[in-house]
Amino acid sequence: MRSISIFGATGSVGESGFDLLMRAGGPQAYRTVALTGGRNVARLAQMARALQAEIAVTAHEEELPALRDALAGSGVQAAAGTAALIEAAARPADWTLSAIVGSAGLAPGLTALRRGGTLALANKESLVCAGALLHGVAQIGGARILPVDSEHSAIFQSLGAENIENVEHVTITASGGAFRDWPVERLAAATVAEASTHPNWQMGQRITIDSASMFNKAMEVIETHEFFGLSADKIKVLVHPESILHAMVTHKDGGTIAHLGPPDMRHAIGYALNWPHRQPLPLPVLDLAAAGSLNFRQPDENRWPALRLAREVIAAGGAAGTVFNAAKEQALDDFIAGRIAFTEMAPRVEATLDRMAGEPHFGDEPGDLPTVLDWDRASRKASAA
Ligand code: NAD
Ligand code: MG
Repeated sequence: MRSISIFGATGSVGESGFDLLMRAGGPQAYRTVALTGGRNVARLAQMARALQAEIAVTAHEEELPALRDALAGSGVQAAAGTAALIEAAARPADWTLSAIVGSAGLAPGLTALRRGGTLALANKESLVCAGALLHGVAQIGGARILPVDSEHSAIFQSLGAENIENVEHVTITASGGAFRDWPVERLAAATVAEASTHPNWQMGQRITIDSASMFNKAMEVIETHEFFGLSADKIKVLVHPESILHAMVTHKDGGTIAHLGPPDMRHAIGYALNWPHRQPLPLPVLDLAAAGSLNFRQPDENRWPALRLAREVIAAGGAAGTVFNAAKEQALDDFIAGRIAFTEMAPRVEATLDRMAGEPHFGDEPGDLPTVLDWDRASRKASAA
C-alpha cells in the first residue's frame, strides 16, 4: 500500500487532495503518514481520523491542546510547531503533497526531498524562492518533483516524452482574475474583498488576490523556468477568460500540443498522484460544447506590471527569485492589512528588487536554506510598508 503525506491539508489544494484520497477508498487504499494544517484543528483532526493518519501537525504551538482534544481516542498522534512539521516531513512517505502557502512550505518540502519519494508540488513559492536548491536536494535524495500547479501539470502532460530541446516555446494561460475587465483607473481603489473573488477557480485567499494582480502568473512564469529550464523568451502568457486550456507546448516543427480540462485542481493532483499510469478519476470531464467558445488575448502589461517583473527576475538570476517572492508576500500582507493600495504592490516589489540588487552576493543563487531565509527576511524588511 502506498504511503502519503499532505502538508497544508486544510487548505484549498489540501482539501482537493483529501477528497481524491477519500474517493479512492481512504485508509483502505492509502497509508497516511502525516497531515498538517494551521489554526483549523477541528478540520485537521477530522481529516486525520478519516484517513487514519499516523500524525497530525498544526503549525501553531498554542493550538496543540485543541488538536489533542479533537484527536482523543483516535490513535492519531498530535504535534505542533515548526520543528514538528519538519519531523513529520522526515517520516518516510512514497508521495507527499506540498500544499502549504508561501515560503513556509520550503523547509518541509526540502526535508521530504532529502528522504526520497515523490514531492507533488503545489507550493510554487518554494520553487520561485529556491529552485536550484530544491532540484539539488531532490537529486541527492533520489526524489522526484512533480508539478501540481495546473499550468505546469499541463505543460508536463503536453510535453510527454518529447525532449525540452525540441520546444520552441510554451504558453500558460491566465484567467485575468477579479479585475480583468475593470478600467485600469479603478484598480487603485480596489478593496481586499473585491480582489478575493475569482471568476473560475475556488482557491485560498492569497493566490486569489495574486490572480487579480497577475503576481500569481508572474510566479508561474518563474516556476515554468525553474521546472523546465526554459528562458524567459520561451515562456508566453495569454489571457484566457474561460480557464479551460491551461497550457500548450509549441514544438520546433510548428506542432502545438495543448492540455484542456475543467478548472478543478483535482485533475492535476490526481495526475501527480497516479503518475506515470493514468487512473480513472471520479471527476467531471471537459464538455466543449457546453463551453461554446474559448477566447484568448495578449495580457496588457500596463494593467499587470508583475509579468514584466517576472521576466526581469529570470534574466537577473541569483537571489532575484528569493527577493521577488519575499517582496511579493510582504506586499500582499500589506495590501490585506490595508497598509497599501492594490496598485502599490507591484511598485513595491520592483523597488525591493532594485534595492536588494545592490547587496553583496545578489548574483549568486542561494545554495542552502539559511541563505534563502536570510534573503527572505531581508527582502521582507526592505519591502515592508
Ligand atoms: P490555502 O490558504 O487554502 O491553504 C494553505 C494551507 O497551508 C493551509 O492548510 C494552512 O493551514 C497552511 N499554512 C498556511 N500558512 C502556514 C505556515 N506558515 N506554516 C505551515 N502551514 C501553513 O492555500 P491554497 O490555495 O490551497 O494554496 C496552497 C499552495 O498551492 C500555494 O502555494 C498556492 O500558490 C498553490 N496553488 C494553489 C492552487 C489552488 O487552486 N488553490 C492552484 C495552484 C497552486
Ligand atoms: Mg496555476
